[in-house]
Amino acid sequence: MSIQFIKTLNESTFLDPMNNFAPKTVVSEIRYDPLTGQISRIFPFRKFILHRHDWTPFVEESKQKFCPFCPGILDKATPKFPVNIAPEGRIRMGNATVIPNLNPYEKYASLVVMSSQHYIPMEEIDVNLIANSFRAGLNYLQRVIATDPEEARYLSIGWNYMPYAGGSLIHPHLQVLAGKEPSNYDKQLIRASENYLTKHKSNYWTDLINSEINNGDRYVGQTGQVHWLCAFAPRHIGDVMGILPGKQTIVDITDDDLNDLAAGLCKVIRYYNQNNIVSFNAALFFTSNENKGFAIHVRIVGRFTIFPLVGSDITHMQIMHDDPWTVLLPETIAQELKKAF
Ligand SMILES: [Zn+2]
Repeated sequence: MSIQFIKTLNESTFLDPMNNFAPKTVVSEIRYDPLTGQISRIFPFRKFILHRHDWTPFVEESKQKFCPFCPGILDKATPKFPVNIAPEGRIRMGNATVIPNLNPYEKYASLVVMSSQHYIPMEEIDVNLIANSFRAGLNYLQRVIATDPEEARYLSIGWNYMPYAGGSLIHPHLQVLAGKEPSNYDKQLIRASENYLTKHKSNYWTDLINSEINNGDRYVGQTGQVHWLCAFAPRHIGDVMGILPGKQTIVDITDDDLNDLAAGLCKVIRYYNQNNIVSFNAALFFTSNENKGFAIHVRIVGRFTIFPLVGSDITHMQIMHDDPWTVLLPETIAQELKKAF
């Protein structure tokens, strides 16, 4: 079944101060997410330029301050898990350490300190760092599911890289959550995927991959079993999804899948870095066995500031109206990103 990609073009007219107040018409787009129907807006800044941002002063300042995740401090300053979750206190896998979040915002909330290295510049983020950190996060999730299957039903792994993306500490870390209910957005995805399956007797995510391969507008490429594409209705700039069709729970995910997901993320992060997108949010989405029609996927969006003012890229449109927006066309990004895959 092929997916419908629906958008409307709005023409706005004003008298242009740059051209002697002659009438000028500008086109913006409203796009509808093909699964949830949620609106996403494409602003008409066709020549939007992101300026290079140097994190060095932030990083230097952070080194002078207290960092609970740095070697020698982590063991003294971070909490340990109760014995039913981790008798060893903290879960260590390769260079990653999983610890409880001191400020939990879900029943099961932990952090994966991804490395002993305080600052990892974008160009040094590699497959092993990401795959190993995800592996450590999944290991924690498997333990809480085994301990408390009733309360640890919905899971997520998230990443806020650097302060523009809400990263409170420079030291790279993931956010790992498990709770009784999915987040608002996860709930939308799960319900809409189930409705799609019921209505069309077909899996939305597989149909999305096939539709994007056929039209070629936003399909980026493949790493192993993972298919990468730019979202038709972006949640923010540079919105890229890596979809693992046919898999939906954390027990379905293999070590090869983790490496494939990490390999694609590294390519996207490298692209961000080359295009002055210096910060990002990412999340790995799963669902439980009882929900049908889903597919495990990772999603990554760029975060930026409005240079030279240190302005936020989150406005009333996202906060008050739940309308995501972007200034970069997904089709343009897909054509560029394709070269890396
Ligand atoms: Zn540190």
